[in-house]
Amino acid sequence: MARKKIAIIGVGKISQDQHLPVIDKSKDFAVAATVSQRGLKHGDLPVFKTPAELYAAMPEVRLVAVCTPPGVRHAIVREAIDAGMDVLMEKPPTPTISELDDLVAHAKKKKRILFQTWHSQYNEAVDVARKMLRKDGVASVRIDWRESVRKWHPGQDWVWEPGGFGVFDPGINALSIFSRIMPFPVFVDSAKLKFPINRQTPVDAEIVFKSGQKHQPKLSAGFNWLETEGEVWTISIETEKGDQLKLEKGGTVLRVNGTIKVENPSEEYERIYERFATLLRKGKTEVDGTPLRLVADAFLLGARENVDAFEW
Ligand code: NAP
Repeated sequence: MARKKIAIIGVGKISQDQHLPVIDKSKDFAVAATVSQRGLKHGDLPVFKTPAELYAAMPEVRLVAVCTPPGVRHAIVREAIDAGMDVLMEKPPTPTISELDDLVAHAKKKKRILFQTWHSQYNEAVDVARKMLRKDGVASVRIDWRESVRKWHPGQDWVWEPGGFGVFDPGINALSIFSRIMPFPVFVDSAKLKFPINRQTPVDAEIVFKSGQKHQPKLSAGFNWLETEGEVWTISIETEKGDQLKLEKGGTVLRVNGTIKVENPSEEYERIYERFATLLRKGKTEVDGTPLRLVADAFLLGARENVDAFEW
């Protein structure tokens, strides 16, 4: 079968690190063009300054991946749907839940497929942990998610602007795993958010969650964006049966009672594009707003503390 033509909107870090090379290797998709404000091309392929120019010039392109910062995603995705595109969206989907709801409704109305990616969910270790928790129950969960903003978002000032998510940009990856593996709904109970005095989004967050479960499992998360000793992307779980599970390295490794049970190289974006191909074949939209709702709730309930100014 011919590979489906897809255009990439926003040729920033994640498009260059993942989307473009992964699509180049894909059996389902082929990059047809880029849309880049800075005019960044992919090889010899056409580049357009705006999505509207792409839609006018290349009517044979029916798919786009929107890889911009989340703040501008709603308008870009709506425009894409109106132009007849099926759309893959990077995470976090939008800065507000209302915008995400609107995109889902708009895609349905226009009979287009909308796929919200949560890249950290695309790991076998996450799938195995999910099955275990369904069988063995949850006694406690502790999420530790720490990385360097200077390494992962070098010079990206949008992360510090309102709607830029701050440390919740990586934190939402942890929450996307958390909400995927938990066998019952969880809610934010309280949150402490630390804001650099010169910035609009938090650099550190400590969250306590609650649930409707009678046995009251202990659930909490700590996110920090100034880690200098490499990445700590770990979720530690005790099951009601008494086993200790550890999802490590962003969900690529699962340890059970200290022994590695699953360990795979990260192929999150390969699996994302496989999933997109399946959704297109089935004609199905897939959008899970739960991680975004948890982040929104942490902001609604969060107590603010001002901390040292952040400079790159
Ligand atoms: P980035 O390097 O800042 O790239 C985003 C690109 O979007 C920009 O380079 C720009 O590309 C385009 N853009 C910026 N402002 C725009 C605007 N107002 N209107 C239209 N296009 C605009 O950011 P990124 O790290 O790639 O992150 C993009 C998304 O991917 C975010 O939602 C992020 O959470 C997610 N993500 C990032 C990573 C990571 O490791 N950084 C990992 C997974 C997911 P052009 O000049 O080419 O238009």
